Amino acid sequence: MTDHTATPKPELVEQIGANLQRVRARMAAAIERRGPGPEVRLIGVSKRQALAKIVAAHAAGLRDFGENYAQELRDKLRDWPPERDARWHYIGAIQSNKLKYMVGKTALIHTVDRPELIDAISRRAANGGWVQEFLIEVNLGGEDQKAGVAPSDVPALLDACATAEHARCVGLMIIPPPGEPEHTRRFFRELRELHERLRDGPERPGVDLRELSMGMSADFELAIEEGATLIRVGTAIFGARA
Ligand SMILES: *Cc1c(COP(=O)(O)O)cnc(C)c1O
Repeated sequence: MTDHTATPKPELVEQIGANLQRVRARMAAAIERRGPGPEVRLIGVSKRQALAKIVAAHAAGLRDFGENYAQELRDKLRDWPPERDARWHYIGAIQSNKLKYMVGKTALIHTVDRPELIDAISRRAANGGWVQEFLIEVNLGGEDQKAGVAPSDVPALLDACATAEHARCVGLMIIPPPGEPEHTRRFFRELRELHERLRDGPERPGVDLRELSMGMSADFELAIEEGATLIRVGTAIFGARA
């Protein structure tokens, strides 16, 4: 039997490789416009994409993948060809009863938005002997968006890291409300400024604010110009989702 996932179809590798190349060229141009600054890592958002496409992206050189649904992540990790080294990111809403599918299994959880989660992550990570890195999702829109914590609540979450020895906060994440590019840019800039203020503030145990996760297919260039270190790009790499 042929293993379709371990050896992806050449046409698929070519097609996704071409998309990747275009995204990387746009990243490079945005980094050029931004000027000196942090390294930017590309995360391919693979939610609701076939495993064959993700393997093809890996064959084309992509190493970071982002998933939004806990069970889908679990299934993909189960079926992933083990010889292909990859870093998985969890970027969806977190239900605490699903933490077992991500803690110790992902390089980074992007969407922590309440203090109880930090404790729960740490306890689970302690059992496995891991230190789980995560980001705090910030809600700068203040509108009806449910996900994310208000900027004024971020310090309390960072303080909660002091007692969570097996969880480490390494930065902030945002999904801005839909809007015009210049509107979106303002959210990216505000998140970077918040990040800088927190970094300049008192040192906190269990906290190392080095990452800013912002920007998707439609706006990753703006995000890079405003200081993103992680961009989350789905459709521009994989095409439309199922
Ligand atoms: C789906 C998703 C993305 C990727 O969106 P595209 O528009 O396909 O690039 C990025 N971040 C989050 C949190 C997502 O849910």
